[in-house]
Amino acid sequence: MDHDNALIDLKQTIRTIPDYPKPGIMFRDITTLLGNPRAFRRAVDELVQPWAGSKVDRVAGIEARGFIIGGAVAHQLSAGFVPIRKKGKLPHTTVRVAYSLEYGIDEMEVHSDAVVAGDRIILVDDLIATGGTAEAAVKLLRSIGAEILAACFIVDLPDLGGAERLRALGVPVRTLVAFEGH
Ligand code: AMP
Repeated sequence: MDHDNALIDLKQTIRTIPDYPKPGIMFRDITTLLGNPRAFRRAVDELVQPWAGSKVDRVAGIEARGFIIGGAVAHQLSAGFVPIRKKGKLPHTTVRVAYSLEYGIDEMEVHSDAVVAGDRIILVDDLIATGGTAEAAVKLLRSIGAEILAACFIVDLPDLGGAERLRALGVPVRTLVAFEGH
């Protein structure tokens, strides 16, 4: 029961902005969760719980909200942190992957030496929708030798199928709160 209460509480701390950034989208704004001390701690504690006491080498976060949550998760697990960034932002040698957005494509990058072959890595972002962003990040990290232990998100939009898409790639998925629709 405690667990269920924790989930309900977290969901209530997320603000929904209708029609942002465009008509028809219900934007799930986690800044209200981040700004709530109890909710932020609870979200991080719940995300790391399956890996407490196990060996995680690094946590990879997807720009930009994945940096906030991923940094806290990495600290809690005594792991390193790896930023996955929009193209052109990282100063050293990078590897890059293209991925589809609703309109057109975008690219993300990671430093090619950010991971040692065989590193056990957890991927973190704030929200999974279609899973296109996270799938690209999984491919990028695997291309430099990472073993992806799991992908973690505060919010799941299950109607868009992203979590299933990641599981089909052999990546266990952990999410804390689900919202219907887009
Ligand atoms: P996707 O690649 O479709 O899984 O989209 C995931 C990315 O888009 C994440 O980085 C989210 O932050 C963002 N995103 C997609 N849909 C929403 C939404 N309804 N509310 C807030 N962020 C969203």
